[in-house]
Amino acid sequence: KSAGPLLRSGKQPRRRPVMAIDEFLKRVYPGTAEEFCGLAAKAMLTGEKLFVVTANPEILMHACREQDLRDLLLSESAAVVPDGISVVKAMRLCGLPAQERVTGVDLAERLLQKAGEAQKSVFLLGAREEVVSALAGKLRARYPGMTVEYCNGYVEDKDAAFERIRQAEPDLVLVALGAPAQERLIARHLEEFGKGVFIGVGGSFDVLSGSKRRAPAVFVRTNTEWLYRILREPSRLGRFYRNNVKFLGEVKKAAKAARQG
Ligand code: UDP
Repeated sequence: KSAGPLLRSGKQPRRRPVMAIDEFLKRVYPGTAEEFCGLAAKAMLTGEKLFVVTANPEILMHACREQDLRDLLLSESAAVVPDGISVVKAMRLCGLPAQERVTGVDLAERLLQKAGEAQKSVFLLGAREEVVSALAGKLRARYPGMTVEYCNGYVEDKDAAFERIRQAEPDLVLVALGAPAQERLIARHLEEFGKGVFIGVGGSFDVLSGSKRRAPAVFVRTNTEWLYRILREPSRLGRFYRNNVKFLGEVKKAAKAARQG
C-alpha cells in the first residue's frame, strides 16, 4: 500500500548507502594524469589486461548503494582514477593523497596516440553512428598502421557487440555509453579476455571526433569543465546537482568519521 503514492509521483524509495564513500576513495589513483597514462600505456603495449574506471561522483554514489558497482570498484582487476575535481577534493578531505583529475577524454586521447604510434589495434564502442565512424576515419587517416574497428552505441544488443570485440582481441577498447552503463557492460565481459585495456570514456567520442567541442582551455585549466558542460547543455544541471550534493554529504560524513576515528 505504501508504494502507491511513491509510484504515482514517479519517485524512487530512498535507498541508504551501505558503504562509506571513503572505502572507494581509498582505491582511487593518487598520482598525476601523466603517470597514470604511462601505466595504462605500458599495460596496453605489453599485452596485459587492465580495466580503468574513471570515477565521478555519480558512479561513486551508485557504488555506495549497488552491489555490482561496489564489487567492481573494490575489485583488484579495476584501476580507478578521479574523473573530476570533486573526486580529487573529496580524497583530500578524507585525508587521502590526490594530485589531480584524470579524465576519460585525456586518457582516451593519449592512449589512442600511443596505440597509433605502436600500430596496435583498437575498438570503439559507443556514441552515434556518425560520431564514432568519423572518429574511426580520423584515426585511420592519422595512423595508417593501426587497426580500428567500431560499433555505435545505439545498437539494441550491446552484449552482442562485445562478441565482435572478443573476436578482434584489440589492445585498447574504449566504451562510450555514459556511466555507469559502460562500466557494467565491460565488467560483464572482462573475464572473456586475456589482454587489452578497457576504459569507459563517457562523452569522449563526441569531443575526439570533433562533433562537440571540448571546454576552452581556461575551463580545463581551472577545473571548471563541469561548469562549461552545464552552460552548453543546461539539461545536465539536475543530474549534476543531485549527484554532487549527495556526494558532498557522503564525503563530509566520511571525513568527520576519519577525523574522529
Ligand atoms: N550513448 C550511447 N548509447 C546510449 C546512450 C548514450 O552511445 O544508449 C553515448 C552518447 O552518444 C554519448 C555518450 O554515450 O556519446 C554519453 O555521453 P555523456 O557526456 O552523457 O556521458 P558522461 O561523460 O556524462 O558519462
